[in-house]
Amino acid sequence: MNSNLLRDLPRVDDLLSALISRPDTIKLPRVALLDSIRITLDDIRNTIKSGNANTMPNFNNICDLIADHALKSRKSGILPVINATGVVLHTNLGRAPIGENIAKQTIEAAAGYCALELDLETGQRGQRGSFCEDLLIRLTGCESALVVNNNAAAVLLALSAICAGRQIICSRGELVEIGGSFRIPEIITQGGVRLVEIGTTNRTRIADYAAAINPETAAILKVHTSNYKICGFTESASLPDLARLASENEIPLIYDLGGGALIKFDNSEPAVAETVPHADLLCISGDKLLGGPQAGIILGKKTLISRLRAHPLYRALRPDKLTLAALQFTLQAYADNEIENIPIVSMFSQTTETLRQKAEALAKKIPVKIGKIQILEINGAAGGGSLPGVDFPSFAVGITPEIISVNCLANSLRSHSRPIICRIQGDALLFDVRTLMPFDDDIIAMAIFSICEEASHA
Ligand SMILES: *Cc1c(COP(=O)(O)O)cnc(C)c1O
Repeated sequence: MNSNLLRDLPRVDDLLSALISRPDTIKLPRVALLDSIRITLDDIRNTIKSGNANTMPNFNNICDLIADHALKSRKSGILPVINATGVVLHTNLGRAPIGENIAKQTIEAAAGYCALELDLETGQRGQRGSFCEDLLIRLTGCESALVVNNNAAAVLLALSAICAGRQIICSRGELVEIGGSFRIPEIITQGGVRLVEIGTTNRTRIADYAAAINPETAAILKVHTSNYKICGFTESASLPDLARLASENEIPLIYDLGGGALIKFDNSEPAVAETVPHADLLCISGDKLLGGPQAGIILGKKTLISRLRAHPLYRALRPDKLTLAALQFTLQAYADNEIENIPIVSMFSQTTETLRQKAEALAKKIPVKIGKIQILEINGAAGGGSLPGVDFPSFAVGITPEIISVNCLANSLRSHSRPIICRIQGDALLFDVRTLMPFDDDIIAMAIFSICEEASHA
């Protein structure tokens, strides 16, 4: 180790005063700069200690390193990005975008005080979420509704409030795992319920359910296989048959539907309104096919929903005002038949002709010096564990860069001031236009233009 070098490390105070007079870092908070100074100096110290440094970088180089670090840290976190992956419900990118109108109304409600638990007509204390619940009743025809943090919470609350200490029957073909480690058998145990598995992976009949019912049975659980498909030699009990069996035995049928499509997307995905009449409790996500914020929604019988609302877990799982406001304005858009305000609905319903035109428009804007640009017909997926096996034919612009490598281009786009996320396929970057918002194509084109400029000066 070269201990002389360590002695030459610049002082924190000197670095700080240099950085607060630089144009690029002048606006950053002192604490952020101090953090970056500490981390950068640590890095340099470690390099010296490991014997991998013979000379100390000069003062200005160290300032550059610190400025880079400080500016980059500002750029991480929950920043708006451009989704050019074509995956509409991208879990890593926040699942459903809630749209500009709805976001604006949500911020207005949340920026000041809002009537979260106040009945404005009577001036009395109101019920949190009641406006959402009224809209859900109107839109789906259910008796009663309750909103919690996410669908995992909805299922946990339903199980805890209705089945704790008893048994629940579920088909072996429906013991689902959803991304982020939501597993039906584990959530059942967590709810204090004993799982009674019936049937086989591929075939479960109504007779299997009937044979498993006993005085300890608290409910029948049906789970929508939202992220996989079992095909071939298969059989499952129909929803109406399950509903009949449950009602004959005076036990509730709980249905974890997941997706939560308020309108019909595809024949493989049951719409909520057509499912409501058969299930005593129906659990759905707010940010999948419904196109709203992260939320869990439970629809069903009044007597059961009021037990859920009164359960101590509800207080731990209830949503905040931002969620409820965003959900309320999303549901209002459905009720007012203004579904063009719900981005995922528009994204899913674009015709291939519209998509082709969008791809052509984007391709025209991209500077040709980046490399080979072509328009490709591709197959997209819904994402977010929704609509498995359903193809979403789309169009993409493929760029095979010639002035830099494909990975380098992808990295530069990801670190752009509005990060651009796209797919790499072989030696090309694919920009699927299905998930592009208005003006995204201009931002992509400008980003590629400045990457070309940088590359030609390098
Ligand atoms: C997505 C999904 C869940 C989990 O919902 P979150 O809102 O992500 O908590 C649970 N069950 C099914 C069937 C799902 O599709």
